[in-house]
Amino acid sequence: MKTAAVIGSGFGGLALAIRLQSAGVRTTLFEARDKPGGRAYVYKDAGFTFDAGPTIVTDPGCIEELFALSGRKLSDYVELMPISPFYRLCWEDGYSFDYVNDQAELDRQIGAKSPPDVAGYQRFLAYSRELLEEGYVKLGAVPFLSIASMISAGPALMRLQAWKSVYAKVAEFIKDDQLRQAFSFHSLLVGGNPFATSSIYALIHALERQWGVWFPRGGTGALIQAMVKLFEDLGGTFHLNTPVAAIETEGAKVTGVRLESGEVLAFDAVASNADVVHTYQKLLAGHPRGRSYGAKLAGMRHSMSLFVLYFGLKTQHPNLAHHTVLFGPRYRELITEIFKGPELSADFSLYLHAPSRSDPTLAPEGCEAFYVLAPVPHLGSADIDWETAGPVYRDRILAYLEQRYIPGLTRDLVTSRIFTPVDFRDQLNAHLGSAFSLEPILTQSAWFRAHNRDDVIDNLYVVGAGTHPGAGVPGVIGSAKATASLMLEDGA
Ligand SMILES: Cc1cc2nc3c(=O)[nH]c(=O)nc-3n(C[C@H](O)[C@H](O)[C@H](O)COP(=O)(O)OP(=O)(O)OC[C@H]3O[C@@H](n4cnc5c(N)ncnc54)[C@H](O)[C@@H]3O)c2cc1C
Repeated sequence: MKTAAVIGSGFGGLALAIRLQSAGVRTTLFEARDKPGGRAYVYKDAGFTFDAGPTIVTDPGCIEELFALSGRKLSDYVELMPISPFYRLCWEDGYSFDYVNDQAELDRQIGAKSPPDVAGYQRFLAYSRELLEEGYVKLGAVPFLSIASMISAGPALMRLQAWKSVYAKVAEFIKDDQLRQAFSFHSLLVGGNPFATSSIYALIHALERQWGVWFPRGGTGALIQAMVKLFEDLGGTFHLNTPVAAIETEGAKVTGVRLESGEVLAFDAVASNADVVHTYQKLLAGHPRGRSYGAKLAGMRHSMSLFVLYFGLKTQHPNLAHHTVLFGPRYRELITEIFKGPELSADFSLYLHAPSRSDPTLAPEGCEAFYVLAPVPHLGSADIDWETAGPVYRDRILAYLEQRYIPGLTRDLVTSRIFTPVDFRDQLNAHLGSAFSLEPILTQSAWFRAHNRDDVIDNLYVVGAGTHPGAGVPGVIGSAKATASLMLEDGA
């Protein structure tokens, strides 16, 4: 294989393009939008820098590896800063928990809330570490192409009781209701319902404890820029504002891509980082495989969507942490409504991002940049008219924040913008406006996700959240490793 096209410059697409180019494959990256990053897009409004999506960077080693492939160093391109606390967790009754990486401090906080849970937490951590080893270190970047590969993982999955949900396992170790929430909400960060997703996803806790939580100086966008620069330094070709209209095929072979401009370009192999339903249903609409597999993927369960509100204030709020989770009055019931619909719940739980706490340059002097997000149903489970509902929901969230956490917010508001499920659908080609692609339940994991190499069409590959291992920055970077290994093996 001498040439390859990668469609989409999300973290997964960029990581794959870097791997291919590092291995000597002449790689061209096509991005539909005017900036790279996909969900990690960047808005610049009134002097504020808003990272659109990922803000919690974990497992920096998987990113460092991309630079090391060509003897380079991540730190020469961008600085990653350790964040502490990892998150502050707040409830409406005034209880708050600083989730830090200091065992003594964690024990102190857990003990103050619920003494028996100190020992329970230790057992949970040991369990989570085992999951990390089995589910991430051993299998996180290995392609699952056959049912046999799934079966060989079976004994470990059985031993770790992967059929149970994240919440069910956490509840076995931890008794206190709020601490159960504190140690089970993580799967939401990759689109998984803690009450339905496999307990395998409880590995995120050990992953954070093992390698920390980081934030790039300059924002997540600076990390994306670093990856783009690395790709271009390696000689890769990157086209922005270049949507791909179709993947060209001849029988069971891909021959190249057709751009929306009409131009057809030939490649030895094509990998798509676009949403997997979009890839098969739209880009491969001309091939029977696209129609049949696209329909199958569309019929699977898709993760919830998100309502994201970016806002800048002319004041600073040093009392806030960089990452805060604001739990609403209900946990299980709210999450059920988020995943099932059929409408927007009356209450919400929020994640508040305050990046100027770590990097003041993301806002004008004396000001502060924020984003707040609420998980909401995707368009398939709640048919909400977001054009009307969006501004109303924005005002409700701002009023809630002002009342409880950021006094004077409305008075100090300089700028704001929203991103709704409709934007996920229309701007990112995300099926049903899902924020995380296929829902990570056991029956949609590993071999059951879209295979990194297509089963029917030779030299067609996918990478990103809809493939193994799934959403999240380390997940999609792992998927790029799996996909690159197949592409390089096939090209050899
Ligand atoms: C608001 C939000 C917050 C998040 N926070 C975190 C976090 O803190 N930590 C974490 O680890 N994860 C987080 N995630 C999840 C993580 O961001 C995603 O799982 C991951 O970034 C998805 O990467 P991807 O490689 O699948 O590509 P995507 O980011 O989905 O990018 C796909 C790209 O393909 C392009 N594309 C689509 N169709 C075409 C076409 N026809 N032609 C050309 N290009 C096309 C799109 O424009 C897009 O740029 C968050 C997600 C969201 C939405």
